[in-house]
Amino acid sequence: MRLVLLGPPGCGKGTQAARLMARFGIPQLSTGEMLREAVAAKTPIGSRAKPVMEGGGLVPDDIVVDLVADRINYKDVARGFILDGFPRTVAQAEAFGALMAEKGLGLDAVIELQVDEALLLNRMRNRVSDALAKGQSVRKDDNPQSFVLRLEAYRAQTSPLSSYYRSKGRLVVVSGMGPVDEVAQEISAGLYALQKKASRKPSICHLASLSGPATDP
Ligand code: ADP
Repeated sequence: MRLVLLGPPGCGKGTQAARLMARFGIPQLSTGEMLREAVAAKTPIGSRAKPVMEGGGLVPDDIVVDLVADRINYKDVARGFILDGFPRTVAQAEAFGALMAEKGLGLDAVIELQVDEALLLNRMRNRVSDALAKGQSVRKDDNPQSFVLRLEAYRAQTSPLSSYYRSKGRLVVVSGMGPVDEVAQEISAGLYALQKKASRKPSICHLASLSGPATDP
C-alpha cells in the first residue's frame, strides 16, 4: 500500500498517518521529520533547510526529492509507505512519479484532508499550549507568523496537487474536521471505494484491512 497524505499544516496528517501505519504495518515517511532531524544533526542539508523552515517557506524541491529518493530504498518500505508532507509541489510530484516509475511502482491513493482554514490557527495555538503545559518542546515554526506563511505556501504551491492527483484517478477526499476516529473511518471507506472503482483485485491483506471496521488503537 503506497499512500500520500495531503492537507494544510495542522489538519491532522501526522495523526492519521500514525493510524494508517498501525493498520497496514507500513512506515510513515515525513519529510518534515527528516528535515528536522537534518537540522538537529547540523548536516549541510539541515543548514540549508533551517532558515526556510523557521520562516514557514518550502525547502527547495531538489533537497526533499533527494531525501525521499534515498528513503524509499530502505528495506522497511518493501510493503509500502505513507508519505506525510511530500510531495508539496507539482515539480516534486512529477519527480516522485518518475522515481516510482523507474522502480515499476505506482501510488495506490492520495488522501486529501480538507479542513476549515479558519480553525487551523487555533488548533496550532492549542497544540503549542498543550505541549508547553506538558513541558514538551515546541517547533520553531509553530508560531502565528510562520504558521500563516505555511498556510499560504500550502495554498499557492501544494493545493494544485489535489487536481493533479484527481486527474490520475487516485484522489480520496476526506473531511478532516471530525474526531480522529471518524476521520480514520472515512479514510478507510474512501480507500475501499477507490479500490473497488479501480476494479483492481486488492490483495487479501488489503481487502481484510479495508473492509473491516476501523478498530485502530
Ligand atoms: P506541516 O505539515 O505542519 O507544515 P511538516 O512537518 O510536514 O509540517 O513540515 C515542516 C516544514 O518542513 C515545512 O513548513 C517546510 O518548510 C518543510 N518541508 C517539509 N516537507 C517539505 C516538502 N515536501 N517540500 C518542501 N518543504 C518541506
